[in-house]
Amino acid sequence: MRFDLVTLHPEMLVPVAAGGILRGAQDKGLIEIHLHDLRLFSPDEHGIVDDRPFGGGAGMVMRPEPFARALEAIAAAAGRRPYAVLLSPQGVRFTQQVAQDLARQPALALLCGRYEGVDERVVALCDLELSIGDYVLAGGELAAAVVLETTARMVPGVVGRHESAATDSFYSGPKLGYPQYTRPRVFRGMEVPEVLLSGDHEKIRRWREREAWRKTLRNRPDLVGLSLPPTPTG
Ligand code: SAM
Repeated sequence: MRFDLVTLHPEMLVPVAAGGILRGAQDKGLIEIHLHDLRLFSPDEHGIVDDRPFGGGAGMVMRPEPFARALEAIAAAAGRRPYAVLLSPQGVRFTQQVAQDLARQPALALLCGRYEGVDERVVALCDLELSIGDYVLAGGELAAAVVLETTARMVPGVVGRHESAATDSFYSGPKLGYPQYTRPRVFRGMEVPEVLLSGDHEKIRRWREREAWRKTLRNRPDLVGLSLPPTPTG
């Protein structure tokens, strides 16, 4: 699968693409990651990509041309039109299900905004406007990194021996993952649940299922239609 990320700050994404599971997936030839500096697609000789908002108001808005030109250049380089996603707090909410759907695309372009946001006509150039949550970041780069890593994990073969996607939170519906334990058996007086040492696989499976639901109800009752617990500050 091919990922193209378009940003004013490719340097923020270099370490993301160069490390961990994403590095391994590239080395195995399972994914390609291409970072693009949006300024290089500006029609302006000084690389200007923003302007004042029509109608007035604070801040600057990113112009549509550089994004359009970037998408055209990516399509030419990839030999196909990528599925284009604009990162935006106004987008549909990113979930594990969205990541699984995106991972079926052969080519995905992630467009990062900055400043007060992006000219609305860029939405029309894209297939999806996507938000990673109900809060506002200063730019789309961290959101793109989240979408990139989560989606890449769903590409067959990327998740290897050291982790398993199938037991992850959200993987099979609105349920969190079960609690995990490793050595030592007793840590500062806290013991590993006896059942996990029993060797009885059916008993362990049932315990994990029950604990996963217990944690879901405690931390994320909204997933099963109940109201959320209070936030840490009340
Ligand atoms: N004025 C915009 C609004 O109220 O919707 C927010 C602009 S934000 C400061 C700048 C850029 O950060 C956005 O264009 C988007 O690319 C990115 N961004 C901010 N929060 C985001 C989120 N929750 N999900 C995805 N992208 C986000």
